[in-house]
Amino acid sequence: MTERVGPNNFQILVLSGPSGSGKTTVVERLIRESPVKLVKAVSATTRPQRKGEIEAESYYFLTTDEFVKRRDHGEFLETAEVFGAGYWYGTLKSEIQRAKDLQGWAFLEIDVQGALKVIEFYPDALTIFLQPPSLEICEQRLRNRGTDSEETIQRRLRKVHEELALADRYCYQVVNDDLNQTVNEINAIIAKHRV
Ligand code: 5GP
Repeated sequence: MTERVGPNNFQILVLSGPSGSGKTTVVERLIRESPVKLVKAVSATTRPQRKGEIEAESYYFLTTDEFVKRRDHGEFLETAEVFGAGYWYGTLKSEIQRAKDLQGWAFLEIDVQGALKVIEFYPDALTIFLQPPSLEICEQRLRNRGTDSEETIQRRLRKVHEELALADRYCYQVVNDDLNQTVNEINAIIAKHRV
């Protein structure tokens, strides 16, 4: 079963991009500056909370048991074990409803596996893939975060390659070379799909 979204209606915006593509900053800017009201869907995850992250704002931090229970109750639109490290991530259907209730667009910042599942259910979702300017810059950004172990960095770099291979499944690809230009470009795409 699919659900229609689109012009004059509720819309789902999916943004994906490999770790190190500069996604987080772009997401923050879009939420502030987008021509439509974007309601960020807060994902659920079983990965440990990082310093500075806020429950129910950064993520809903769940135990694996809670996550599985809620998944089995059909509470998720999609789930994915993003980095193959045993940690689960997922978009709760209630977050889509929250965006609808707030009369905004649901804004999903999720990985490629998750995005492909969302497209199956919402074929008209607006999907954007954020390309890092180069693999070198991507790796540099990953290392500069200073929060991850070498093993984690290597796992994330492998994932970067997997994600890049699926970029053409998105409606749009935007190269994040210059932050202002990237934000302007995405805002123009959003504006085009607003009417
Ligand atoms: P983090 O660095 O926060 O551990 O992981 C972020 C990665 O998980 C990013 O690639 C992000 O797009 C993905 N992610 C975050 N939330 C979700 C979700 O709800 N579903 C899916 N499929 N991926 C998610």
